[in-house]
Amino acid sequence: MLIDSQKFSREQHTAHGMLPIAAFARLRDNLIAQPGADDQVRYEVRGGVDARERPLLRLTVSGQLPLQCQRCLKALDYDLAIDTAVRLVAEAALDAEMSDDPDEPDCIAASTELDLVALIEDEILLALPAYPRHEDRDGGCGGMADEAGSKKNSAFSVLSALKTL
Ligand SMILES: [Zn+2]
Repeated sequence: MLIDSQKFSREQHTAHGMLPIAAFARLRDNLIAQPGADDQVRYEVRGGVDARERPLLRLTVSGQLPLQCQRCLKALDYDLAIDTAVRLVAEAALDAEMSDDPDEPDCIAASTELDLVALIEDEILLALPAYPRHEDRDGGCGGMADEAGSKKNSAFSVLSALKTL
């Protein structure tokens, strides 16, 4: 999926659809299980300009990724919800244009053959949590904690039973 990025943004083109997760070779290394043919992400790329009429691409990506929980090491379905923008600048100006301001969109080199799949994969990799964990509001790490808890309880009940003897 190659686009002429400047033209795409100037003419406010849109590209959207589904991409198989298996197509993202670099992302696959971050997954706990190899994605099947049905595992896909939904994407939309829209060309436009920022408030100062500078060309940019807006990206939204959503889907579920099988990550590994860093607490219990089991699989974790991570909800991907990317809504971001990248500004297109001449390759030679990339370093100069790059801003540390988190409110400013990242810059990428404009190209007449910009690979959209690679761009989408870059944004997914940036969005991945450094330490994915089951959220407590989703029940934490599930049965693991409960199991340990009930074992502790039974140990206590044995102790208290011994004491009463
Ligand atoms: Zn967990």
